[in-house]
Amino acid sequence: MKIDLAGLLFPRRCPVCHEAVEEPGELACGICRLKLPYINGPACRKCGKPLLSGEREYCMDCRNRRHHFRQGKAPFVYDKLMRESIARFKYGGRKEYAAFYAEEILRRCWKEAAYWKPEALVPIPLHPSRKRKRGFNQAQLVAERLSQKTGIPVDAGLLRRVKKTRAQKELSGRDRAANLRGAFSIRDEKVPYKKILLVDDIYTTGSTMDEAARMLLEHGAGSVYFLCICVGSGT
Ligand SMILES: [Zn+2]
Ligand SMILES: [Zn+2]
Repeated sequence: MKIDLAGLLFPRRCPVCHEAVEEPGELACGICRLKLPYINGPACRKCGKPLLSGEREYCMDCRNRRHHFRQGKAPFVYDKLMRESIARFKYGGRKEYAAFYAEEILRRCWKEAAYWKPEALVPIPLHPSRKRKRGFNQAQLVAERLSQKTGIPVDAGLLRRVKKTRAQKELSGRDRAANLRGAFSIRDEKVPYKKILLVDDIYTTGSTMDEAARMLLEHGAGSVYFLCICVGSGT
């Protein structure tokens, strides 16, 4: 019998209940998986948010606003459970959750994302001072996991966060877009990819994703897509 010594010494934590996962080799408890807020019903064809009853194809936000990205998806809705999970991931040092999130993204969204034929995975960067404080960029951890499974390279240096923006949750609507304006710079004069897949943890208003996509398109990218762990529940 092969003994998983690392697993015994440092048991993997479940991204739902935050206890040690008892099933060997699993990334989450079987029972906890049942509680996850998967997007199972109809979702917006642009941003992946679950559609409210009566909406067809596009959510209200995507009907009212032109996005710079072409399309995006996520496996989960950003509800209380996912808020706690991602808070532990980002602020509680639970970097191992990245493997679980990436696995779920691939399982639920890759069939569609593969059609986009992305040449590179580009994580949404943190401002260097924020990254230093946190010790890592959560989006990059997820992107690296996705890369291991898909073979598509991660280009974590293409986008840089040059402006320290205020937390988006403190702002509303128009202020969010203004807050993000000029937040990113691009490493290359001309982006060396036609199709880029942005990776982030949460998509809510889309201001961050839009600003990143706008910059990439301005520097020669042909189309920009995104994958996230969660999307807001659509309002
Ligand atoms: Zn659990
Ligand atoms: Zn939408």
